[in-house]
Formats: sequence, structure tokens, C-alpha cells
Amino acid sequence: MELSKRALAARDAIEPVTSFFLSLRAVDGRPGVVDLTFGDPHEMPLPAFVDALRANLEPRAEDWFAYKSSQAPAQEAVAAGLRDELGLPFEPDDIALTQGAFGAISVAFRLVADVGDEVVVPQPGWFYAPMLGAADLVAVKAPLDPDTFDLDVDAVARAITPRTRIVVVNSPANPTGRIYTRDRLAELAEALESASVRGGRRIWLLSDEPYRRLRFDGINFTSPAACYPWTLIDYSYGKVLLAPGQRLGYLALSPLIPRAERAELRAAMLPLQMGMGWGFPDAVMQYAAPALETVSIDVAELERRRDLMVRALGAAGYALTVPEGAFYLWGAAPGGDATAFVAALAERGVFVLPGTVFNSPGYFRISLTATTTMLEKALPALRELGPG
Ligand code: PLP
Repeated sequence: MELSKRALAARDAIEPVTSFFLSLRAVDGRPGVVDLTFGDPHEMPLPAFVDALRANLEPRAEDWFAYKSSQAPAQEAVAAGLRDELGLPFEPDDIALTQGAFGAISVAFRLVADVGDEVVVPQPGWFYAPMLGAADLVAVKAPLDPDTFDLDVDAVARAITPRTRIVVVNSPANPTGRIYTRDRLAELAEALESASVRGGRRIWLLSDEPYRRLRFDGINFTSPAACYPWTLIDYSYGKVLLAPGQRLGYLALSPLIPRAERAELRAAMLPLQMGMGWGFPDAVMQYAAPALETVSIDVAELERRRDLMVRALGAAGYALTVPEGAFYLWGAAPGGDATAFVAALAERGVFVLPGTVFNSPGYFRISLTATTTMLEKALPALRELGPG
């Protein structure tokens, strides 16, 4: 059998994750294992989330479950929420409802980039490469600052070539939890503007913001959309509701995009989503969207879990990046070999993600979506294997 180039590219790009999960098979399923790998829920879903679904499940019209593209009440609720949060004049027509951030990112990649175009992604960063491979686009990695994991504008500028069409910014960031400042984003905007002028082709910024509402210590969030007009924003409700299996998210056009271009983009989103296989969220998720705008997991509790782990692992000698947002803890693997460290932890019944899946073999990531009991249960093994 011959696989398509796209299927091969996606498969190869996700291979480190696949092989990590295969390696866990030997120990998976053992009773009492503490799984701190992915940002999945470990407690019962939020009652307000379930209520919003239940309230919209009962049909109120014959077309309740008819084909649904982006629904006006959902678009209006999202635009109002974005106006409040980001202070920019979003309009309902700027919003395309999607199947989570995954769906929105896939739309963005196809909306402005053509086959063979390059897309600059952060390193370490989330798994953009399989989606790029499946869209016949080329991932170009731009390293974050190696010590602070702050955005490195010079590294982004160096990664730009005449084929660059999109630069992805992810703040709050996965896996580091860093939130980038307005000043740093303004520097990036300047670099993208001059590279666009120099190259004679507009470079778009995709702001991947699914963790936007999960922030600690009262820290502010600036969307790159406030600094660079040619910005597309993707968002997911999967993080703030901790319910990523019920797909809901959106792609938002920045209201600062020049009017003529914005009109063209608005008109292009629906046909593109249709062309991608009816890439809209299910009807019930869209009906529930206005109610879900204000529902959230307990961020203060998440912050307490962050504090617990930062304090305990810090005392055990770990070098950590203290997360400012999102729900992960990123640290240096003792001994510098994440694969060996993660395997030793797995033998002791604790699963964490090795940095190899983020192309950072000296690091590991813990998901703070675990319960406090799970985190406390993981501590003895983490202390035992710590740097001392
Ligand atoms: N972007 C980042 C940085 C993520 O961490 C994730 C999920 O882990 C996504 C996008 C995709 O979110 P969703 O699965 O809710 O679409």
C-alpha cells in the first residue's frame, strides 16, 4: 500500500509521541499508576458545563440537528467576549466556529498559506508539525530563549525566508507556561512588518491562545493581535472547561486587518471549512457556546497545584520554569536525559511527558490537570530521582 505524502508527513512528525506511548505499554494499566502526561481531566466534569449541554440537547425546532455552519448567537457571544477580553472591536462575522483549536489552526493554515509555504513554529512548542504536514506546509522551528523560554524575536527573524507565510505564537505557552509581554510582542510585530516589506509578501501571525484564560498571579495577557494587524486568533474551550473531547473553538480575524482583506477572509472561511469536511462544531456545542463563555475550571485551585509542585520540586533541586499560565510544569530532567528519567519514573508508577516529544531531550513536562492527591502521590518518586 502507498501512503500519501501528507499521511507520511503527519505520521513522521508525530512519531516521537507515538513511540513514547508505545514505550509506556509495558507499564500501562498497572494499578495505582499516576498519569501526569496529558492535559486531560481527572475529576468529574464541571456541572455548569453539563447543564449547558443538557439545556441545549432537547430539540426546540425541526431543524435543531440540521446542518449547522457557524451559528450567529455563538459568533455574537464570542465577539462580545473577545471585545471585553482583548479590547479590540471584534464583530460576529470575524468569528468562525471550529472543532476546537485544532480545527481553527487547520483552517488558518489553509486560509492564507499555499502548498510548500513555510510556517515558523516555536521550539519547544506544541504539535503543529503533523497539521502542517497534512496541509503540505513546511514547519520551520524557531527556538525560544534557551534559559527563560521567552519569545526570541531574533530567532524568529532568522527563521524567516522568502517562503514564510505564517509565524505561530503560543501564549500562554505549552509546554513552558510562559506568557509573553506586550513589549516583546511589539518587537515581534516590527520584525514581521519589516520582513513582509522586504520579502514583498505579507507574513501572517497565528496567535494560538487556547490557554488565554488560565493565568496565575494576576498576570496580564496581551494578544499579539493588539500589536500586529495581520493576526488570526485560534481558541479552544477544551482547556478552560477541561473537556477537550467535546469539540468547540474558533478562529477569529483581527479587527485591525485592513478592511478589504478582512472582507475577503470573512467570505472565504465558510467555503474553506466546508471544503475541509464540514469543519464546524456539532450543533449542540454551538447552541451551548454563549452559556459556556463564562464557565471555567477553578484557576485558583490550578495555581495552588502549581505552587505545590514548584515548591516541592524546587526543594528537591529541580530546575523549573515557573508557569505564568496554562496547566503544565516544564523542568530540566535530572542528568539531562529525559528518556532515562521518564522511564525510571514510569517504573515507579509515575508517568510524565519526556521533552523528546517537544524535541527537547533534556526536559520533562508534568500536567497540572491531575488532582492534588495524584500530585502528592507522585512526589516520592520525583524526589527519589531528583538532582538532590
Ligand atoms: N494549541 C495548544 C498550544 C495546545 O496545547 C492544544 C492542546 O493541547 C491545542 C492547541 C489544541 O486544543 P484543542 O484540542 O482543544 O483543539
